[in-house]
Amino acid sequence: MTVIYPEPIYDLRELAKCNLHVHTSFSSCAHPDALPQDIVREADRLGLDTIALTDHFNDLGHDERMLAQIDELKRAVDAIPHKVRVLYGFELSGYGIGRWLEKDSTLEKLDYRLYSCNHFHLHFWDHPEDRSPRGYAEFAMAIVRSVVEADRADCIAHPLVARFIPFDDKTLVTKAMKDEEIYELSCVLRDHNTAWEINTKGVAGDPDFVRRLWNIGKEVGTTFHIGTDTHNIANIDTLADIDYIESVVY
Ligand SMILES: [Zn+2]
Ligand SMILES: [Zn+2]
Repeated sequence: MTVIYPEPIYDLRELAKCNLHVHTSFSSCAHPDALPQDIVREADRLGLDTIALTDHFNDLGHDERMLAQIDELKRAVDAIPHKVRVLYGFELSGYGIGRWLEKDSTLEKLDYRLYSCNHFHLHFWDHPEDRSPRGYAEFAMAIVRSVVEADRADCIAHPLVARFIPFDDKTLVTKAMKDEEIYELSCVLRDHNTAWEINTKGVAGDPDFVRRLWNIGKEVGTTFHIGTDTHNIANIDTLADIDYIESVVY
């Protein structure tokens, strides 16, 4: 586990010095040009302090192959001179309450453990019995809680939003979450040194919720991380949408 911020920071431009959600060409959804050496060059050009390479970990029983993938990334990055600090991790899958794919021994080898708890579009993801917005709200919060309380995550990716649930209105699920519930869950994250992610490309999908999460997290003392969730070289810049995100949360 890597400490990114010893104390929580609530200045978006300060947080934007780290991009903690970057996919490489190892993610099948990523552009083939997202080669690790080019990502690192671009991060240096942008003057980023730290990046985390977080390819999807979506397969059960493939820990060795996935760790070998990280070794390959390290070899490519180490072969070129660079200034940016590079953390090696995965976007892991909390695909149900208390359910994840990777072994504990794999988790221990990672510099950075980003957890997705809402990739409901993937075939292996659990769904609630009650598929109403409130049903999904309770279920999504319960998955996050189980991952955080098990001390598996450094950060929760695109937290709680219904971006991957086939509702016409993607804000219905977060609207079905009460402020008290978000407050309480933010306390759990704080107490387990887990961050909420500001997923820069995702903010526009549910800005009201991002504002609620930011303000409640700030009140509680929860840490935030910024990630662009980039799948190509062009979207590594954490400042690209910063004016808009500032207008949303401040
Ligand atoms: Zn994701
Ligand atoms: Zn991602």
